[in-house]
Amino acid sequence: MRHENNIRADGDKDKVAEKAPRKRAPSEHGFAMQIMDALEQGIVIWSQDGFCQMCNQQAVDLLELQTGKLRVGTSLEELLAQARDRGAFTAAKHDEAVDLFGLGRTFHFDCRTPSDRILSTNVRPVRGGGHIMAISDVTEAREALAALGVAKAEAEEAQRKATEVLEDERARQREVSLLSQMDEWLQSCKSLDELYQIVTAFMQKVLPGTRGQLFIYSTSRDVLDLTCAWHCADAPAHVTPDSCWALRRGRSYNYDPDGLSFVCDHVKDALGPDDAPDTFTCLPIMAHGDTVGLIHIEFLEDGENPEVLDTKAFTKRCAEHISMAIANVKLRDELQDQSTRDPLTGLYNRRYFLNALRRELSQTAAQQGNFALLALDADNFKSFNDDHGHDAGDVVLEAIAEKMCNLDVDGAIACRVGGEEFSVILPKADRTRASAIAEELRRSVEEVRVDYIGGDLPKVTISIGVAVYPTHGTEPKDLIKQADVALYDAKNCGRNCWRFANGADLITFD
Ligand code: GH3
Ligand code: MG
Ligand code: MG
Repeated sequence: MRHENNIRADGDKDKVAEKAPRKRAPSEHGFAMQIMDALEQGIVIWSQDGFCQMCNQQAVDLLELQTGKLRVGTSLEELLAQARDRGAFTAAKHDEAVDLFGLGRTFHFDCRTPSDRILSTNVRPVRGGGHIMAISDVTEAREALAALGVAKAEAEEAQRKATEVLEDERARQREVSLLSQMDEWLQSCKSLDELYQIVTAFMQKVLPGTRGQLFIYSTSRDVLDLTCAWHCADAPAHVTPDSCWALRRGRSYNYDPDGLSFVCDHVKDALGPDDAPDTFTCLPIMAHGDTVGLIHIEFLEDGENPEVLDTKAFTKRCAEHISMAIANVKLRDELQDQSTRDPLTGLYNRRYFLNALRRELSQTAAQQGNFALLALDADNFKSFNDDHGHDAGDVVLEAIAEKMCNLDVDGAIACRVGGEEFSVILPKADRTRASAIAEELRRSVEEVRVDYIGGDLPKVTISIGVAVYPTHGTEPKDLIKQADVALYDAKNCGRNCWRFANGADLITFD
């Protein structure tokens, strides 16, 4: 590295050397020379009119001058010109040095020797005129200084990197903590609705720079319904599967306005005529191999969250965790359904019926109200199966179940408790209401026409036994028994009818 040639004027520090050069006796001159030769520095004493009066060998050696180029009588002008011509310093610095000598002030400059060593030269005026010039080789010192500068810069860079790594690590820890907080909430969800509420609240809080929507496939699977949205007042209520590149391609899709990518139709449709789409990501929600929904997230300009390392990557991770949680809740619901529902008719099974009856009974008892239990049985179903086949019988059982589900009673619980045997719990139904519902059900089943392999099957009827709480029993087993007795009664009365349980020993609340 080539150093600048410095020439520094230290006018304020002007000091006049204590002893001004004067004519010396020969012995005095010899003594002075002995001292100068003993010094490490190169010393040159200049007369007021700019000629060398004395110089030591170190000055000649340090300046790397040829013999005779610096000796008593050499002019300052000659020496400075030589230095300039050898490239010890620039022409401008040379002129500056000439001026400074002329000013009679203390000054300092650096120059370079032909062998590329750095010399530091201090010049001081002496009393009575003239200058004393002291030259030192500062190559090592300057190199050490430069090396120190490099080491300092390296240390600063290492510290900057360490701080950066530390901050990244802190941001990563914050991300992990946020995700685990969200997971904890999502895992404790009892239903999908609860999960959607948590997703909205969480995303709103941790991703202020995003707008998002969550869609779930409808039962018919021809459309996806909006289930929740954050920072987004005008989210579409539905999107179709073919309006989203992520759903069409079966993997996450990133739209970047600056890249070669295309806007999804569901995004285009929601834009105003002058609006341009923001960067967005669409992520299919997969649940155990099936696509069950879609998360759409838009990244607003200047929407970076300083709390996290990379907003886009973090958002994607959030979406993945949400997907997983939805998949788990859906799986749990399916398993629960499988354990509580009858696969042929979709009605609740016997186990669920018994629990629901116990629940209804204790709730109604607490309110001192009524509810009714209907016991249903398909009439002559054995011969129906014999005549038309078991599969045709199954279709009829499904049709009966459908009528049971369509009853106009709030909270009615329809169950298949055995082969061709069913039960319905009718909350808040008293004797009058129960008999009306039993009649409605009997009539609606009687009217069913089932089309099976191109032809109508003969009509099927049901018989119904009706028991009312607390009139016919205050325990589940008693109510079931009474409803069965009433059903038996209905069968004995010719089928396709309903009967009350024997109300001989009525129980009433005061
Ligand atoms: P009743 O009017 O006295 O009830 O006569 P029923 O023939 O219906 O009574 P039974 O108990 O003798 O016969 C019940 C029939 O229900 C026999 C059985 O084949 C049929 N069944 C039970 N479960 C199913 C089912 O899942 N599918 C079909 N297709 N038939 C069933
Ligand atoms: Mg039966
Ligand atoms: Mg039967």
